[in-house]
Amino acid sequence: MTDIGTAAWVMARCADLTRHSSRPDALERVYLSPEHSAANTAVRAWMLDAGLDTETDAAGNIWGRRSADGAPQRPATPGEPTLVLGSHLDTVPDAGRYDGMLGVVLAIAVAHRLREVALPFALEVVGFSDEEGTRFGKALLGSCAASGQWDPAWWDQADADGVTLREAFARFGLAPDRVGDAARDPADLVGYLEAHIEQGPVLEARNLPLGYVTTIAGARRFVLTVTGEARHAGGTPFARRRDALVAASHLVTRIEELAIAADCLATVGDIHVQPGAVNVIPGRAELTLDLRGRTDAGRDALWEQIAAAGRGIAAERGVAFEFAETHRAPSTACADRLKAAVADGIGEATGAAPGDVLGLWSPAGHDGMAMDAVTDVGMLFVRCRDGISHHPDEHVEPEDVGVALDAFTAAVLALAREHRPAGPAEPSALVEPAAPVEPVETLGEVR
Ligand SMILES: [Zn+2]
Repeated sequence: MTDIGTAAWVMARCADLTRHSSRPDALERVYLSPEHSAANTAVRAWMLDAGLDTETDAAGNIWGRRSADGAPQRPATPGEPTLVLGSHLDTVPDAGRYDGMLGVVLAIAVAHRLREVALPFALEVVGFSDEEGTRFGKALLGSCAASGQWDPAWWDQADADGVTLREAFARFGLAPDRVGDAARDPADLVGYLEAHIEQGPVLEARNLPLGYVTTIAGARRFVLTVTGEARHAGGTPFARRRDALVAASHLVTRIEELAIAADCLATVGDIHVQPGAVNVIPGRAELTLDLRGRTDAGRDALWEQIAAAGRGIAAERGVAFEFAETHRAPSTACADRLKAAVADGIGEATGAAPGDVLGLWSPAGHDGMAMDAVTDVGMLFVRCRDGISHHPDEHVEPEDVGVALDAFTAAVLALAREHRPAGPAEPSALVEPAAPVEPVETLGEVR
């Protein structure tokens, strides 16, 4: 049994959690499933070992808490400032073992390391119950409940088996009419800090184990519809065709060109063609479009270009172009003081000079997008191999997890120093020094 509070313990617990899967051959753990319950039970035991008292909230999120002086504490004392660390425990289908889980387990290990340390705030760890939205098609359900943003319109959304969110709540032992109890009071919160694998290739390309997040991009999603004319594939010469799929194909390649030029991300992930027969010219094509950018303004400007391209291609090819927006989220800026704390932590753990710590934007969504409604948000990114995520090949190096653990702990202590500007009790003086960390090579660009 490895020691709680070490990288080996974190790696082993991420491996343990793969047992709680609805599929024998792959990892899939969705909201309000028996596996969700089993994962909460496992995490609860680890939280207790780390000196936290635990509670499952009204939306199935698992929480652990200690008071400022280090005693396990439940429930929270209203008005006591509280720093929340955490991530999510649900997965996509056929998932890797680190997306979400690494952040929860790291947070527990940090709490264990700091269990003897008095802090100027209570410390909580949360394992959010739904971030991916795999089961009900709506992401961030756990953190939306915790941030008081639950929308009653979601209750009737059903999973693939027709089970509504309301029914799933009851089966899990939760009372739908109590979901508001999960909402946290912004007045009690100091901030929300999350560690997460990068899910992209930037840190690896720069030979860096860690970075801090500047903003979490908000996506815009559309359904684009191209309408032409379905006719006989044999009897209709090219000059007479109004082929919806050919027009849509031109648009897809144009979308990629425009997104690359705009330094944004655009993905057409699904196409439906009607009538969909081998000997009929497609009369209608429906495409999904997902847009993300470093800034909302850049993303929105790209959309205007795409819409113009759609109209232009439609005019050239004698088809109709229409669109409907299905989702729009603003980007979430990480708070300056939390970015500074995470950067300080990375500097302390890696030996990098303050100006040499990399800040990067997250094209992927995270629980911080919801928690931003109730408190400041900060994130620590951990390098993952080849940027692979949402796939069983997701991989992090134990050495990087060790440095992440040191940096995450140091970030909490940096916030503690900031929170308690005066007085003799310098929090970092009370903590046992972490094992020395080999400095890593860093590159000096911050963006
Ligand atoms: Zn995640």
